[in-house]
Amino acid sequence: MMSLNDAAEELASSLGVDKAEVKADLEKLVSYSVPMDEAKQSLRRKYGDSGGGDGGGTPPKTDIVDITPESGNVTVTARVLTVGKRSIRYEGENQTIFEGELADETGRISYTAWTDFSLSPGDTVTVGNAGVREWDGEPELNLGQSTTVTLEKEALSVPYEIGGERDLIDLEPGDRGRTVEVQVLETETRTIDGRDGETEIKSGVLGDATTRLPFTDWEPHREIVDGASVRLEDVYIDEFRGVPSVNVTEFSAIEPTAEVTVSESGTELSVREAVAAGGVYDAVLTGNVIEVRDGSGLIQRCPECGRVVQNDQCRSHGQVDPEDDMRVKAILDDGTDTVTVILGRELTESVYGGTLEDALDHARDAMDRDVVADEIAEKLEGREYRVRGALSVDEYGANLDATDFEESDEDPKARAQAFLSEVEP
Ligand SMILES: [Zn+2]
Repeated sequence: MMSLNDAAEELASSLGVDKAEVKADLEKLVSYSVPMDEAKQSLRRKYGDSGGGDGGGTPPKTDIVDITPESGNVTVTARVLTVGKRSIRYEGENQTIFEGELADETGRISYTAWTDFSLSPGDTVTVGNAGVREWDGEPELNLGQSTTVTLEKEALSVPYEIGGERDLIDLEPGDRGRTVEVQVLETETRTIDGRDGETEIKSGVLGDATTRLPFTDWEPHREIVDGASVRLEDVYIDEFRGVPSVNVTEFSAIEPTAEVTVSESGTELSVREAVAAGGVYDAVLTGNVIEVRDGSGLIQRCPECGRVVQNDQCRSHGQVDPEDDMRVKAILDDGTDTVTVILGRELTESVYGGTLEDALDHARDAMDRDVVADEIAEKLEGREYRVRGALSVDEYGANLDATDFEESDEDPKARAQAFLSEVEP
């Protein structure tokens, strides 16, 4: 049987109130012959109510490291690392939510707040009666109607960075409340069928000294124009085909900054590393072209949607009058894995050594469209290339949309050495 002192201690810590006060109350109830369990319940109600809770009492205080998806409701004292504001569609309504990370000495955890608790990065708070749910296999705190948030006077020291400032290379899908300083490298405005009807969005590419990433601006900001250097405060990160993508919203703050230097080199990786990363927006790979695949050389596209068509039939638009185009789908092997490199028209013309018109003439003279692909295969197969572009991974494998494609002048021996050291560290 738990002693009165122990019971008072447990209650005080779980309710976040003074132990002496709880002990006095407990002693009084027990002296009136109230059973201990009932006395504790009654005090939970008393202090739970005074804390503004729903009367169900506050769960015991937990270290973040001990929270699991099965934890039920918890109470934690933690430092607010980041706060991101976002509008989502929930049960048919637009709702503003707050998301980010909390940390204590033992660990950190993501949270979603369904009401505005006025959280700011750096605050130390006690979050009472937060729900725990599972997201992507990890526990996440849910701060709702029955959650209390109390600002603590004393700052909790935590072994994590406070605030959302990051380099582009460090962003990961799922990140919320991030702040980046970037140069806008490309922009495109288009109209989409959004959740509230037709709406205009801006998309393009951002760069900093570490890498480049695609972005979408859901509330087109006029500060986001080609060549501008800007600080984007409160953006969130999702993924598109394995590549992190920066989302700017109506809640993001945008400010011009001094010119941001942009990485010129791309990220050098082995194919295996790039595939393991699930996608890399600006990857540089070096390997041998082992095969030029079917669907290379002269191709035809639907004029409506740009899909490759065969026998004038588009999957979406039926019978069409197709447009001629050129591309290469080449399998690149660097000894660790393979990737399909896709060259668009310009790079294909350059490896073919002639324009689309030349290729069409060539095919006409030979009375065979395949001669173009055959000639490209003869040039590429067995040679080593350095390729730069966006690598994505889907169920069919890894593809790299090349922006640069050049024959490698690297010493093959040195490269073999590098791979060996990677395989056997
Ligand atoms: Zn089509």
